[in-house]
Amino acid sequence: MSDPNNENMPYSLNSRKVASATREWLHKRGVKLEEIAELVMLLQNKYYPDLTMQECMDNVEKVLAKREVQNAVLTGIQLDVLAEEGKLISPLQEMLVNDEGLYGVDEILAFSIVNVYGSIGFTNYGYIDKLKPGILERLNDKSTGETNTFLDDIVGAIAAAASSRIAHRKQAEREHQNEGTEPELPED
Ligand code: MG
Repeated sequence: MSDPNNENMPYSLNSRKVASATREWLHKRGVKLEEIAELVMLLQNKYYPDLTMQECMDNVEKVLAKREVQNAVLTGIQLDVLAEEGKLISPLQEMLVNDEGLYGVDEILAFSIVNVYGSIGFTNYGYIDKLKPGILERLNDKSTGETNTFLDDIVGAIAAAASSRIAHRKQAEREHQNEGTEPELPED
């Protein structure tokens, strides 16, 4: 429905709206940020035994603040929702509902998230995608009647990107500790 107040307004991006819709839709689709943080912990605690859940949460938050990530989350969830409602064109409809093995666009979309902190995210993504721990197991449960064909890859990718962010920052901290100077951490 068109808003009469907006009828002649040219389009302009509302970044705050995109950011809040991202969080809202993850929540609506049953994803808690704590569960993504748990995946991060699982990926990183062997490298950083002192890593805390709070640090994992903070890194998930930073990943979700990125526009590329928000765009991928909203696009993927929208396709899952449309598939659940039976509104896609055939045969895309059937491929998404059945999470067709030869359909790989869900993974391609997830790569735009994994990429945000560089290529080391790919290793983490591949590992967690194979293992499917925690929330990923639930999102892959085909008996629920829900379609999470895109969402499972998106959640794994957010965890992988947060893990990469941690790895880059820990390295920067370590180097500066060795040099005895204040760490110059990567910006975001
Ligand atoms: Mg998938």
